[in-house]
Amino acid sequence: MRKLFVAGNWKMHGNKTFIKDLVTGLNAKSVSLNNVDVAVCPPAIYLDFVNKCLATDKIFLGAQNIAIEPEQGAFTGEISIAMVKDIGCSYVILGHSERRAIYGETNEQVADKTATALSANITPIVCVGETLAEREAGKLELVISTQLNTVINKVGIDAFANIVIAYEPVWAIGTGKTASSAQAQEVHAFIRSLLAQKNAEVAEKVIIQYGGSVKPNNAKELFAQPDIDGGLIGGASLNADDFIAICTAGV
Ligand code: PEP
Repeated sequence: MRKLFVAGNWKMHGNKTFIKDLVTGLNAKSVSLNNVDVAVCPPAIYLDFVNKCLATDKIFLGAQNIAIEPEQGAFTGEISIAMVKDIGCSYVILGHSERRAIYGETNEQVADKTATALSANITPIVCVGETLAEREAGKLELVISTQLNTVINKVGIDAFANIVIAYEPVWAIGTGKTASSAQAQEVHAFIRSLLAQKNAEVAEKVIIQYGGSVKPNNAKELFAQPDIDGGLIGGASLNADDFIAICTAGV
């Protein structure tokens, strides 16, 4: 039985006042978080602040990106996994479609970063997903399998015991268009079967989150699907009531 895992991706949102309010709201409502793993992923510059504001052991901290290089060095503007760990993170989001599309992150770089995160015992949340054009061209399975196989080839299938996958159809992110629960389930089942071809035991255990306009009113149906094990939440994670409602929707 897989435990639900819901993570909030705050992207490049917030300031100290907003974040203090948000975390105060999360602290107050965290008592209702049972049988679900929860993380928030603020902008890197606020990780330490959020860590200090969090007054619950039910919400973990995650980063939104890391450098490939694991420790320190002459990499201006970059943040290493050692630093992310030092500040108290348990997770890091990797290969989000915004990083792939806007910053040109390649499958190989995502795979390298996954290896870096694993080397520090930080759980990577590896994002995969197709654009609308790719879906309409019948390339959905090709795109997802290429994204995943690049990571598998780098870190090996057994490493997926310590990896979370987030399926995020690009056309559903921040658009208000959610994949239907059936559409999402179909892709989640495909992802699990792809892993199962290499290691059935790992495939059965791996957490596969869905991401793309998840809101309190659609989370329950999505999380009820057999291969959907929680969500990666963007916009709705910036509101404490909505985020907690999503976190508790599937339990
Ligand atoms: C995301 O950024 O990962 C995401 C799923 O965003 P939203 O929930 O706003 O669609």
